[in-house]
Amino acid sequence: MSCPDLARFFDGELSDAEAEAVRQHLATCELCDAALAMLFELDVVGHRHNRLVEMEAELRQLWRRKFNPTPPEEPWEGEGDE
Ligand SMILES: [Zn+2]
Repeated sequence: MSCPDLARFFDGELSDAEAEAVRQHLATCELCDAALAMLFELDVVGHRHNRLVEMEAELRQLWRRKFNPTPPEEPWEGEGDE
């Protein structure tokens, strides 16, 4: 599969179906993952689009699931519980 135009995805110019295809691609392509992360970083600095906050939250969840699928319980969390 060839890599999608992340800039258009990032700017919200894609249709729902196209955006969904990009999301699925992102889950399988480390290159695009990294590239989009960089786009977000640049945009966060520039405060360019408000709607990207929502998109970013969505994508962060996606990334978290990808890189950290089942967050382990932290045993020390309940310290002093008894
Ligand atoms: Zn890609």
